[in-house]
Amino acid sequence: MKKVFIDTLGCQMNKSDTERMLGMLLRLGYEETKNDSEADLLMINTCSIRQLSEDKAFSQIGTWGQWKRQGKNIKIGFCGCVAQQKANEIFKRANYVDFVLGTHNIYKLPDIIKLVEQGQKVCECTETNDVNVDNTGEFDIVRVKSTNAWIPITEGCNNFCTYCIVPYTRGRERSHSPESIINEVKKALADGFREITLLGQNVDSYGKDFKDRHYRLVDLLRELNAIEGNFRIRFVTSYPTDITEELIDTVVESDKVCEYFHIPMQSGSSEVLKKMNRRYDRETYAKIVKHIREKVPDVTITSDFIAGFPGETEEQFQETLTAIDEFELDYSNVAAYSPREKTVAAKWTDKFIPDDIKQERFQRLNEKVKENCLKSNQKYLGRTMEVLIENYYEHKGEMINTGKTRNNKTVHIACNRDLTGQFVMAKITGIKTWYIRGELVDNSI
Ligand code: SF4
Repeated sequence: MKKVFIDTLGCQMNKSDTERMLGMLLRLGYEETKNDSEADLLMINTCSIRQLSEDKAFSQIGTWGQWKRQGKNIKIGFCGCVAQQKANEIFKRANYVDFVLGTHNIYKLPDIIKLVEQGQKVCECTETNDVNVDNTGEFDIVRVKSTNAWIPITEGCNNFCTYCIVPYTRGRERSHSPESIINEVKKALADGFREITLLGQNVDSYGKDFKDRHYRLVDLLRELNAIEGNFRIRFVTSYPTDITEELIDTVVESDKVCEYFHIPMQSGSSEVLKKMNRRYDRETYAKIVKHIREKVPDVTITSDFIAGFPGETEEQFQETLTAIDEFELDYSNVAAYSPREKTVAAKWTDKFIPDDIKQERFQRLNEKVKENCLKSNQKYLGRTMEVLIENYYEHKGEMINTGKTRNNKTVHIACNRDLTGQFVMAKITGIKTWYIRGELVDNSI
């Protein structure tokens, strides 16, 4: 049996694409290996959100190219966002690559592999307006072993934030059909997954592109919530101004939908937000977050921020720090601005912030996130919370079950039994920055 190794970089959407590609390859008779040196087919699923990630991809395939030059009989595939963006250019930079496969065409993988096995070089990066792969049951998705199944519901984005490459690499927004999503959810639940996370660059826009029906994220959440069984539902990522009153109410009313929103703010300064082409200002974001907190008890709200966007002044950066405090953001992903080819902001070279200042702001932002994360965790000391156990391992001589609360807090529970996949109740007894410690109360849910 031939073996395939796939290295996946970047976001959850890429990981989800890899799960689909593996499913197709298994159908073709391949077997997955985690060891690249024993693979016949080596693929990299690339990310282009930052230069660092792109550089990492080329460095990785460089090693594989060397193996090929040394006479190893392998095929190399370059896939994902960088592939979509650079297409045939990849062959010029790395002539040992056998195929280039963009994000819009992963459903063509089986045909591509057949041509590559016959010795052809293939590049498939055409843009389409269709969803990439609806789970029509033609192949099994090879999910990473976990309690949570990631299920894409939309692809692409129409927002064109001035720093972001996604609309160029993933195309315009397309929604998967409710039927295919519901099928996929039922299949994942039957396979033992206990948590479903609906995935999209802008998940609240789900269904806006349907021409033949009115069906939105709230309809999908309600339908999924009605499926029998003990499981949880999450959805990421939300665009602030696309969160509707009806969506907030649906979260409150649907027992399986968790109290968790990931709402990237990107900057605390209204002026910077305007330059980013975000369609809200600081006050609007504040109102949305405040309103969600009033309606959804114990909700966790997380965000994303960019440090050192072109032209960002120290005062504007300070507004980002105060936003994290003022809006009590429970956790935030932070990144230093990285110019991406084709995007509007990448042309503002005269406004670029020097690297040392950018890095220094990035550090300060991280410190602020840490501070707030600890503060947020402290709210739960002494409370008893439901935890879905995801993992069991030994740490410094102690056996630990780790899992997540409904509101996405990571809990460590010392216990000599492996409870992976179970819902348990834990009393919160200790607070750390990135997790909380709990004691098992009852595992009989
Ligand atoms: S909404 Fe998100 S994915 Fe879409 S362009 Fe803006 S940052 Fe990129």
